[in-house]
Amino acid sequence: MHLATRIALFLTFALLCCSFGLFAQDEYSFRVHEDPTIESELDDYLRAPRNPEAENPHELIESIVAKVDEQTPIMSWVRARGYYAIDLLVDEQDEKAWEITEDMVTVAEFTGVADAIVEARAVEITLHYFSDQTQDALVAIERVLPLMTDIQSPRVRYFAHNLVGRVFHDVGDYEGALEHYLSAYEAVRETDDERTVLRRQFLNTSIAYLQSDLRDYESALETSQRAIDTAKTEGFERDLPDLYLLKGYLEGQMGQSAASIASHEEAIVWARQFDIPEIVLLSMNNIGSSWLDEKEFEQAREVFQEALAEAEALDDQATKALLLFNLGYVEVMTGNAEVGIPMMETNAEIMKEDSTDADHADTLNSLIEAYVEAGLFENATNALIEQRDLNKTLHEREREETLSELQTRYEANEQATQIDLLEQRNELQQRAIENAELQKKLFILFAIVVVLGSVLLFQLYRAARRANRKLKDTNRQLEYQSTHDALTALLNRRSFQEAMKKRERQARYSDQHEYPDALLLLDVDFFKKINDNRGHMAGDQVLVELGKRLKKVSRATDMVVRWGGEEFLLYLKEMNPERLPEFTQRVLQVIGEKPVQTKDEAIQVTATAGFIPLPFGNVSESQLNWEKCLQIADMALYIGKVHGRNRGLGVMGLNVPFEETKEALEKDLAGAIEKGWVHSVDVSGPEV
Ligand code: GH3
Ligand code: MG
Ligand code: MG
Repeated sequence: MHLATRIALFLTFALLCCSFGLFAQDEYSFRVHEDPTIESELDDYLRAPRNPEAENPHELIESIVAKVDEQTPIMSWVRARGYYAIDLLVDEQDEKAWEITEDMVTVAEFTGVADAIVEARAVEITLHYFSDQTQDALVAIERVLPLMTDIQSPRVRYFAHNLVGRVFHDVGDYEGALEHYLSAYEAVRETDDERTVLRRQFLNTSIAYLQSDLRDYESALETSQRAIDTAKTEGFERDLPDLYLLKGYLEGQMGQSAASIASHEEAIVWARQFDIPEIVLLSMNNIGSSWLDEKEFEQAREVFQEALAEAEALDDQATKALLLFNLGYVEVMTGNAEVGIPMMETNAEIMKEDSTDADHADTLNSLIEAYVEAGLFENATNALIEQRDLNKTLHEREREETLSELQTRYEANEQATQIDLLEQRNELQQRAIENAELQKKLFILFAIVVVLGSVLLFQLYRAARRANRKLKDTNRQLEYQSTHDALTALLNRRSFQEAMKKRERQARYSDQHEYPDALLLLDVDFFKKINDNRGHMAGDQVLVELGKRLKKVSRATDMVVRWGGEEFLLYLKEMNPERLPEFTQRVLQVIGEKPVQTKDEAIQVTATAGFIPLPFGNVSESQLNWEKCLQIADMALYIGKVHGRNRGLGVMGLNVPFEETKEALEKDLAGAIEKGWVHSVDVSGPEV
């Protein structure tokens, strides 16, 4: 067992260092986020042998990092900084390495590019791993795992899976490690460049060690054989000492002593070629052990002694003690117990100081065998008891380790989950804040819109009101104009006709009035002369003044209408017929008694009137309507004109039945008056 541990330890550093050098010169499809110039410079950096003795071993990577800024595509940016961080870490400048890494992770996370995030995180994991912060490395791995399925660049995928495989391998999660090594293997298959074979070779080696740890010796043997074949055909002879050492170990575990010896001999040949004395010694010791398994003690002695000479030359005390112990065993087995037992006991004590309990239990195994061989049963019993106790604690520890291994993975998972939750919560809080701000902005915007809207609405409302008022005014004006005469402002013919229609409708419901209404028609005398002699304007002024006078003389309930050019009609509501002539006289009076004063002169005016009650006499309006009555009044007016003007003639009633006088009334009023059928009244105007 101790052999495998030492081999693993020996190889770890070389393998990891190389794995960082593996992704140089990659030509991947993932180009959007890469800068070709920077990429090729980074490839060169990996190819250049690192000189730790140089004044500034970081010179090359620092010169590349100096060219990288926020304009650089993110993948090249991360790659350059990642290399720089690892370079610093190798040089034990941990603080600076961490500073760069943390900054890099933040930026990568910000871009959201899965490849960039994974590569940055992988550097973070590497830093933890090399700083013996296994738990932190595991936490970081748990967090990056979900993203790893999205990686596009085979370079990054290889890097990440290889790294995770290594960490899992280290903490004893062999199944997990295998899964990631195989994913890394898949990534390698997607690459096709000068380093593809090298990568595959390293992975094969890693997988072989893993299979060995999984005690799947058959598979491990197959894989290591494949690695050996590749190393030979592709010129990776530098791998052969390790690979043959592993192969020999595996064959030994499978009981194939002859094959194991042959492999170890190969290992020795290659180790000598590359000057790796540790592997030479280990291989020799393993060969000796195989001879012991085969009970070939002389062969074993020979090899152990040869190795002992080399160990002494190297001043390798630990290996020397092991070899002396094994030589003591050979002595016992070849009948020299008195020489062999003390040799074994002395060197077992020396070995115990530096070895693990498991290794010491192995040592005791050989010692017990020797005690039994020498007949020292009491010693054998004591050693057995010691070994039993050791095994007991070993088992307990192993169980604890298994449990703690499980615990470690579980805790890492838990921590990762908690960190994720925390980040999600932070993000939610950030969103909540952003939402609140957005709402605030929206509210302000809304308020502005409302205020502006209100102002606009108010203005619109005011404009509408103004327009409405104007419309109403216009309507009112229109209505006024349609019902009034423009010159005199008296009611016009149309409004009188409307009033008559209304009167007709109302009459159907209430016929009962104390007095009838009356119609009084007036025509200005010789008006044409006024126009002719004084001008049309003066004529107008006369008409206006007469309108005013007529309004003044009539009651509020009466209608004063401009009936035609210089004709006026008074519609007198509920006018006592007996008072009608007197009223007419009064009207003629106000027209004629005072001349009309115009701007330039005073004009004497008279008018002639015809008047009639409505309804007329006992005749119903259905028989003699307002129009016919007005016609009679008009005839009366003309009779007045004929009889000298400035007078009025009223048709007040009938002296004969309506049927008899009907025709005469409508056509020859003068005749009817003469015949005495009609009761008429004469009224005189003022003296002028
Ligand atoms: P008579 O006594 O027979 O009624 O004579 P007269 O001149 O008044 O009658 P006539 O019908 O011949 O003339 C009426 C004139 O009134 C004719 C017309 O030019 C005039 N007249 C009609 N309307 C207006 C008006 O609005 N302004 C003015 N200045 N003259 C008008
Ligand atoms: Mg006239
Ligand atoms: Mg006239």
